[in-house]
Amino acid sequence: MGKFKIYPLLVGVNIRDRSQLAYQLDPGTKSESPMICWYLTDGKRKVMVDTGGDPPDGVRHMPYTQTEDQLPDRALLKMGVDPKEIDTVILTHLHWDHANNNHLFPNAKFYVQKKELQYCVAPVTGHEKIYDLNIIFKTKYEIVDEDAQIAEGISVTLTPGHTDGSQTVLVDTDEGLYAIVGDLFNLYVCWESKPKIINGLHTSVQTCYDSYAKIEKLNATLLPGHDFRVFEKKRYP
Ligand SMILES: [Zn+2]
Repeated sequence: MGKFKIYPLLVGVNIRDRSQLAYQLDPGTKSESPMICWYLTDGKRKVMVDTGGDPPDGVRHMPYTQTEDQLPDRALLKMGVDPKEIDTVILTHLHWDHANNNHLFPNAKFYVQKKELQYCVAPVTGHEKIYDLNIIFKTKYEIVDEDAQIAEGISVTLTPGHTDGSQTVLVDTDEGLYAIVGDLFNLYVCWESKPKIINGLHTSVQTCYDSYAKIEKLNATLLPGHDFRVFEKKRYP
């Protein structure tokens, strides 16, 4: 059995103010933003990180498109992967654009942080609409508390800031450690800027920077939450 490979899946595109993607960056400028799920396999285990947003209905959520090919189950089938074979789903956090398609994976166990389940019912003011509680609580979760190993070669660590219970997924690969950071930061520019820029949607500035310090110590290749650049490669590594 080999080490894990990571495949980014494009599961929709929404239009957002740049300053919401990256705090105080280009306010008033709209930009397209990809919605991303990740498929991980070592040849045996079949793992999803996040499940994406449910199809747009023109009423809820931000302006958003999702073609048929961008439905997460279709995107997987196109790669020759049957969604029924997904054994594990790890949710970086429970925002609607990351966690609303759990029903597409009927045979998976769903891993989420305890703090995220607590936070989603009482988030900071203004962030309530980002959670679809009626969808979230249809899933039975395996609850993780801070650090946990999910499979051989995959572990999670709590990295709050965007939400109180956001987690980063650490993946052991042939080219070292990769870290899928969820929306801890959305764009590579956030991490590459000096000083680093945090997510425009956050619970506390300091908490974001504390989580940045935590992931910086990992010496991992970081994969952000909403950057088209991740699709420059079909597979990592
Ligand atoms: Zn989010």
